[in-house]
Amino acid sequence: MKKETLVTTLGRKFGTSSGVVNSPVIRTSTILFHTLAEFEATEKSVLGDDEHRLIYGRSGTPTTREFEAALAELDGADHAIVTSSGLSAIVTTLTAILSKGDHLLASDSIYGSMRSYCEQDLKRCGVEVTYYDPLIGAGIASLIKPNTKMIYCESPGSLTFEVQDIPAIAKVAHAHNIVVAMDNTWATPLYFHAADMGVDITIHSCTKYIGGHSDLVMGLITCSKQYYSQLRRTFRNNGAGVGGDNIYLAARGLRTMATRLKQHYETGLILANWFKSRPEIVKVLHPALPDCPGHAIWKRDFTGATGLFAVLVKPYSHAAVAAMLDNMELFGMGFSWGGYESLMLPFKAHRTASPSWSHDGVCLRVHAGLEHPDDLIADLTAGFKRLNETIL
Ligand SMILES: *Cc1c(COP(=O)(O)O)cnc(C)c1O
Repeated sequence: MKKETLVTTLGRKFGTSSGVVNSPVIRTSTILFHTLAEFEATEKSVLGDDEHRLIYGRSGTPTTREFEAALAELDGADHAIVTSSGLSAIVTTLTAILSKGDHLLASDSIYGSMRSYCEQDLKRCGVEVTYYDPLIGAGIASLIKPNTKMIYCESPGSLTFEVQDIPAIAKVAHAHNIVVAMDNTWATPLYFHAADMGVDITIHSCTKYIGGHSDLVMGLITCSKQYYSQLRRTFRNNGAGVGGDNIYLAARGLRTMATRLKQHYETGLILANWFKSRPEIVKVLHPALPDCPGHAIWKRDFTGATGLFAVLVKPYSHAAVAAMLDNMELFGMGFSWGGYESLMLPFKAHRTASPSWSHDGVCLRVHAGLEHPDDLIADLTAGFKRLNETIL
């Protein structure tokens, strides 16, 4: 079946026996054992021989297992693990695979909080980290060392939207026995099939399009069989479990994700092209536009684009930028994205390995929400008028 169908059907088995459409939410800390024998079997399973047994709220309930099975299938992976945030999915992956003395190759365009984790914690624990130019492709071979254990990709990259040649990177990695992990939050399981492109471990922040309504924080890891037990064990030891209500909200968001994404895609492109026509703009970074770094790869490997992109604006005074952003009617200024509402946020990208990246003016990250594009363009037109009229 097509993914549009799967998002409406997967993960509903648990409710169907009673005839209800949506699976019920289980809220619990404690799971009772009926007999001493059952309790003793559970104690054994904590040591790792049965990851699916229900033992305690933190490690999951039927609500958790059903959502995990649905997302593993949707992502074309063997297994899935839901975690308390997208960042905890990243940290679980890094700590499950990497040990003291190992070397990590991470994209220069990775999500900012992951970079902080690498700099402040991973290095402190004795892991070597090298950032690579997201446009490196097969050239990544030149950065591999005898102790390289993992290549961590994000495509398109956070803030700067470079599209990476994941199949080329994965081919080099696997020839050296290196694990390929990738943050696929931007494209979702619908627009990039990471497992088919050679990715071993895929990370999604469900906070974004899967939830889709700006009302939850949750993460997801999907993976092949080979890495599942280690990831599950580290997840359990990190205590990064999720309550049933958040999983319910994510499952509810999933039902409409395919439909929402079509609109984010369409509106995002309308806005990106509109920005391109404006005299204030130097460049629009949107993977579906021909001048975005890696556009040809996007065309080859992705089946769509979502609503997040960036615009590089000419230099303006701080007061002019404030006059624009402080008075937007529809574009909120806030972290996160993937909800129904439009957002716009100034950013500075910190790059140490991307020769192509530099911009002296204002950088804005834009999320195209589900409002009518005409109203969004009217809001932006008024914003640019304030930007131009503020002479300071
Ligand atoms: C938001 C985000 C994350 C982190 O997700 P949280 O659920 O907020 O912890 C990770 N990667 C990308 C690309 C993101 O945009």
